[in-house]
Amino acid sequence: MSFHITILGSSGALPAYGRHPSSQLVEIQSRYFLVDCGEAAQMQLMKFDIGFQRINHIFISHLHGDHYLGLMGLLFSMHLHKRTTDLHLYSHRGLDEIIITQLRYSQSVPSFKIVFHRLEEGEQKVIFEDEAVSVETIPLHHKIRCSGFLFREKPKPRRIDKDNLPPGLLIHQIVGLKKGDDVTDEYGNVLHTNESLTFPPRKSRSYAYCSDTSFNEQIVDQIKGIDLLYHEATFITEDESKARETKHSTAAQAATIALKAQASKLILGHFSARYRDLGPILDEAKKVFTNVQLALEGEVFSLQE
Ligand SMILES: [Zn+2]
Repeated sequence: MSFHITILGSSGALPAYGRHPSSQLVEIQSRYFLVDCGEAAQMQLMKFDIGFQRINHIFISHLHGDHYLGLMGLLFSMHLHKRTTDLHLYSHRGLDEIIITQLRYSQSVPSFKIVFHRLEEGEQKVIFEDEAVSVETIPLHHKIRCSGFLFREKPKPRRIDKDNLPPGLLIHQIVGLKKGDDVTDEYGNVLHTNESLTFPPRKSRSYAYCSDTSFNEQIVDQIKGIDLLYHEATFITEDESKARETKHSTAAQAATIALKAQASKLILGHFSARYRDLGPILDEAKKVFTNVQLALEGEVFSLQE
């Protein structure tokens, strides 16, 4: 089953050197989630051949322009392509006002319903959930209200050992096996133990998106043991004063969070336009946490079950 993160934009506040403002597509078991929607997100989706009508949930971390200014263009294209499915937008206060104002002055009525979900500052809360996936907010420290997003697969069923299945089992017994029950007779006597007929469930995978934020160890508990962590690394340590002033992180700080959270892998993004060469950012992070990569446009990070 799929779990892929496609990087659409990796730049900080300004586009630079072919890098675009923040946006990522998170695909989990055929659900398409867009995380942030910086300018050019729509063009990037087209470039990487991702059908944007499949996106039903868009999560905006905060209302600095580099994280949402691509949204209006995307919404208009969805409308022009005659979308009818509801679109869910998750954001801190104000996005509804911004969008409604733009629609009003262009005298546009979208072909689909937009459902706004307001995020609250400092809140750690499940904001999306279905039978297979949940999304939870991660409170971040930034200049304005800001949340990261934690994507988790729910626990999966045990897998039936088809080659070893006795004949004549009933549907409810098969369903029970997947849940971990033994096969019993009508009096409750165990005929077959669960372990003899099933394999353990496949792994439930997790991804955390943390941008924008100053160094904030408070998030570590929430993301402990994460499979893949995206953490902003706007600056290198040499420019740490700038990071402090703008409430961003350095590469070493991002790597420290990954280390403390015992993440399996770290990816870095939201790079300042002051760096043409990103080598020093990667090198700095590697000194603290070895399994790290730059989250550059077009990179796809896939998590295995
Ligand atoms: Zn910001």
